[in-house]
Amino acid sequence: MKQECKICGGEADFVFSRGEADGVIAEKKVNPEGYERRYYQCGECGLLFHNGFDGLDGGQYALLPGADGRNLVGDGVEPTINRAVRELNIASCLISLFHLDPARLRTLVFGCGSGLSFNMFLQNGINAFGSDITLFFRRNMPFPPGLFKPELVPEMLKRFIKTDRLKGERFDLIAMTEVFEHFTEPLDEMARLVELLAPKGILFGTTGMADRVVSGHKEWWYLQCLTHATFLTRKSFAVLCAKLGVSGLIFPNSGQFVGAAKMSDEQGIFVIQRP
Ligand SMILES: [Zn+2]
Repeated sequence: MKQECKICGGEADFVFSRGEADGVIAEKKVNPEGYERRYYQCGECGLLFHNGFDGLDGGQYALLPGADGRNLVGDGVEPTINRAVRELNIASCLISLFHLDPARLRTLVFGCGSGLSFNMFLQNGINAFGSDITLFFRRNMPFPPGLFKPELVPEMLKRFIKTDRLKGERFDLIAMTEVFEHFTEPLDEMARLVELLAPKGILFGTTGMADRVVSGHKEWWYLQCLTHATFLTRKSFAVLCAKLGVSGLIFPNSGQFVGAAKMSDEQGIFVIQRP
């Protein structure tokens, strides 16, 4: 059966399913025997998504491995450091490109998780706030002491806002590194984030790009991260920006933004500006 595309509303065809034999399927616990997660791709914009998490209630969602904010795949200390360095790099590039004052602008690290990039933003004089579904960081984190400064944790706690308390806040810069792919309702969730931007405010993130995958999607490593649900394309991003009334650009895996941090060629950097 066809599904409605979660971004453009076009018709999305069933393309493949992933079952137990393809690895751990997060929602298997709450679904019957023989369950297979179904993936769909939009014929109009190319958006790739699965509907395995759709319709799960809060209690069921909490049972999913990875629902605590960890992906379980690619979630060791090194990938976390890599993501944090990348996030700080991109933020620094945008601050300089848009001539922003890091000490004055209100920056939000959305999906701050272990708090490493949030901590590094503060170390670098960026007026940063952190947000996540719950608090995952503490003083004693498994990062090299030169990277994560435990003495900043009290300040981080003061600047932590749970995602359900963000409404009404205003930020000049929002970072969402490797967050978009977790959204099951990408249009509504992005609209809520854009709503948090001040006029001319900028939101950036990195995510997997389904239109950059050279061989089959079913084998794409990015699908193995347990709570990834939605995979963008350049066309679906353009539709998303038009629907949100913002301007947006996607940059490839560019050294200018990523610096010495690593990012695969199947990921991209998106930048959105509110009018
Ligand atoms: Zn679509």
